[in-house]
Amino acid sequence: MPELRKDPISGRWVIIATERAMRPTDFKSEPQFIKGGFCPFCEGNEDKTPPEIMAYREKGTQANTKGWSVRVVPNKFPALRIEGNLNKHGEGIYDSMHGVGAHEVIIESPKHIASLTELENKQVEEILWTYRDRLVDLKKDRRFNYGLLFKNVGTAAGATLEHSHSQLIVTPIVPITVMHEMSGCEEFYKYRGRCLFCDMVHQELSTGTRIVFEEDMFVAFAPYASRFPFEVWILSKTHSSHFENLQKLETEELAQVLRTVLLKLETALEFPPYNYIIHTTPFTFGEIEHYHWHIEIIPRLTRVAGFEWGSGFYINTVSPENAAAFLRDVNIENQAAAIRS
Ligand SMILES: [Zn+2]
Ligand SMILES: [Zn+2]
Ligand SMILES: [Zn+2]
Repeated sequence: MPELRKDPISGRWVIIATERAMRPTDFKSEPQFIKGGFCPFCEGNEDKTPPEIMAYREKGTQANTKGWSVRVVPNKFPALRIEGNLNKHGEGIYDSMHGVGAHEVIIESPKHIASLTELENKQVEEILWTYRDRLVDLKKDRRFNYGLLFKNVGTAAGATLEHSHSQLIVTPIVPITVMHEMSGCEEFYKYRGRCLFCDMVHQELSTGTRIVFEEDMFVAFAPYASRFPFEVWILSKTHSSHFENLQKLETEELAQVLRTVLLKLETALEFPPYNYIIHTTPFTFGEIEHYHWHIEIIPRLTRVAGFEWGSGFYINTVSPENAAAFLRDVNIENQAAAIRS
């Protein structure tokens, strides 16, 4: 019997329809990477990108030359532009403003690698630290309200370059997805005086059936109302509203958890296309008790079709319990390397 499940945060319903009992191997995706050709993100090609915004580099090396480990540049084809004022205006019922914002690319390694999992934990930690630095810097700009960090891997997930990278889009508006999550959490907080995400973490840890991986400070689990097969969320076990308030030790552990979960997905699903996104509290809020930053990892194994577009429901053919059990047990030692070679 298919089951309807409600996500307590967004209020969104999903249909868990596992009649067809999908195994991870049923999701063989098409080759996901764009191979060959010139790569503007590789070391030595620094002059082929717009000038860098920041980089972690060896002492004594010049901006826009070799010697960096993580490099941030403006997107060459930005969705929004950094210059100008918002010029908010309305025309009857229609509101608009200038497309002011920031669109940055975080190049995750000077070497041409296709996956973040090919990097050491230490380097992943630097990437997360870069995310933090960019949010801290951009939130000083009063025109902006939100910074969305995300990663597209594989053409099916929207990537146009193979070289491992992530992106940051900063907007003057808080995205509707975040607003929905925040209002669900606020509603919960009003009645119970607790953070809904914190409660979710506690419940998942005590049930255990949807846990994928955990360490002292962070836990990865398949959400109860997963929209997509093998969807995984990563949350801190203690309350934290802003990603950019991450401390050094936490970043170290988060890097390990993120890398492990991605390695598990790559091993189980043979390098699926995927997106991850970081949901955090908007810039204009100080520390708040009802919203909790998190990472959502979404393997792109199925297509969103008419029913999803029309209803806001999602049909998921793999139960989160099965997905979590599979990911918990998958052996990531050597396996990822073997598949790749
Ligand atoms: Zn490259
Ligand atoms: Zn919380
Ligand atoms: Zn979210």
